[in-house]
Amino acid sequence: MEKHYCVVIIGAGIAGLSCAKYLIENDIHDFIIIEANNQIGGRCETIPLMEHQIELGTEILQGDQSNNPLYQLADEHHLIDYSNNEFDRDDCFHDEDGESIDEDIINEIRTIYDEILEKKVPTYPYENYPDSSLGEFISTELDQYIQSKKVSLEKNEIDQIEKVIDWLSKQHSYLNTIGCEKLTDVSVQGWNSFEHISKPDQSNGIIKYIQGGFSNFLHIVFGNKIPNDNIELNSMVKRICMYEDDQYVSIEIIGKNKEMKTYQAEHVICTQSVGCLKKTMHEMFVPPLPYSKQLCIEKLGFGTINKIYLIFSHPFWDVDFNTFNFLWNTTTEWKLTCLENTPYDSQWCKSITGFYVHHRLPNMLVTQIGGEAATYIETIPDEILTNCFQELFDRFYPDNQIPKPKKLIRSQWFNKTSTHGSHTFIKTGSNTHDIKRLAMPWPNQPAKPLILFAGEGTHERFYGTAHGAFMTGIREAKRIVELYKKDLINQ
Ligand SMILES: Cc1cc2nc3c(=O)[nH]c(=O)nc-3n(C[C@H](O)[C@H](O)[C@H](O)COP(=O)(O)OP(=O)(O)OC[C@H]3O[C@@H](n4cnc5c(N)ncnc54)[C@H](O)[C@@H]3O)c2cc1C
Repeated sequence: MEKHYCVVIIGAGIAGLSCAKYLIENDIHDFIIIEANNQIGGRCETIPLMEHQIELGTEILQGDQSNNPLYQLADEHHLIDYSNNEFDRDDCFHDEDGESIDEDIINEIRTIYDEILEKKVPTYPYENYPDSSLGEFISTELDQYIQSKKVSLEKNEIDQIEKVIDWLSKQHSYLNTIGCEKLTDVSVQGWNSFEHISKPDQSNGIIKYIQGGFSNFLHIVFGNKIPNDNIELNSMVKRICMYEDDQYVSIEIIGKNKEMKTYQAEHVICTQSVGCLKKTMHEMFVPPLPYSKQLCIEKLGFGTINKIYLIFSHPFWDVDFNTFNFLWNTTTEWKLTCLENTPYDSQWCKSITGFYVHHRLPNMLVTQIGGEAATYIETIPDEILTNCFQELFDRFYPDNQIPKPKKLIRSQWFNKTSTHGSHTFIKTGSNTHDIKRLAMPWPNQPAKPLILFAGEGTHERFYGTAHGAFMTGIREAKRIVELYKKDLINQ
């Protein structure tokens, strides 16, 4: 006899957990969460390191109580960590010849760059040019600046400006948030629709971390409220069959002992990432998803951002040091000698824009890498990658006597079959309507939605964020709660 539930939730990331918590708070206990991994959290993954923790996924609480409900929850549980927010520490900018770049040039170009993003991009008439990319728009604006400088500056000075522009466009916070490689992949509309609530200047320069890490937060706020019997870990949903005439859904699962089982449900809430939907939608849904929904999934971007932590025996930088930045020559070929005689090439290196000192662990440097380079380095073994980073430091910072890192820890979000990447973004050719369409229940009848969609990729303003995921979980749980409330009233 197949087990029957009112609700089956696929995924125990923030969206799945917030959905479950809301159902419980509204007296719906007849649900099960099916989670592919051996732990809850999804793209929140904290790992312990000595007496501290490091985050492979979500790390920062964006915004404040006025715009981020996770902030409120963390605050209620006294979990916000305001310490270690020193902003006036030293940053170093070197190019690949080991030459230092003047910080005044960086600041001048950063100001122009930010002005384009904050003042010019929002006024862009993207309705008339729906496929325009942010990258093209910015480079047209910056070209005018470079041309004006060419009149008065030497070639080497122009080269420096170009290096800074390249560095800024790679390390731009939006790219670091969404994991795409080039701003030419991001639609202007995407940039304008994303709600950037975490700008340091809007939150008094304070970055909000979570005490004990994000996984700790999830356990305290959600995990502890959901009975163990309502979560099945190590279980992968393979197929979702909708029986519209009979008004139920059947879910085929490979359980933790590799056994096949089938559950039935009144409703299924899918919270898998857009990356997973891209990979599996054709086999997963029977009948196939409506064509319009398939198209949205195909069109939306799903990028990869990976974090890399280098642990040293002791810091080779000063106490008040903050970042080592790498400014690449935009035209030259680059090869790492340590990769000679290996099957790996060196092109990914140019996506590394620098390392910063970890806010808690003083002997650790961190970098983030996005896009194709991020997926490529997932294939390089730790030992070889460690040598690559040591060589990079030697070339950019030859005076620093860089020791070999003791250990490397990193995320590999692209090759994780339960995520297939890290963040949804609005790719050129897609727009926020694709997110809205993806978020619609199927069939889209208020009387009884059978398959519902939550997860960060279904929030039209906060896609790619933890709070976006949270809000979508509540949104879909509410839809079900409202439905049963109506039923009670009608009885
Ligand atoms: C490197 C990185 C840094 C980030 N930093 C921040 C940050 O600082 N601030 C911020 O706000 N956000 C950040 N984010 C984004 C944030 O982590 C995500 O938006 C959020 O965690 C997504 O939650 P979700 O529930 O939508 O999806 P997920 O966390 O992906 O949850 C989906 C769950 O579904 C499970 N699943 C998938 N397929 C199946 C299946 N077939 N059967 C069963 N289970 C399945 C998965 O295992 C997963 O647990 C970051 C993300 C990454 C990767």
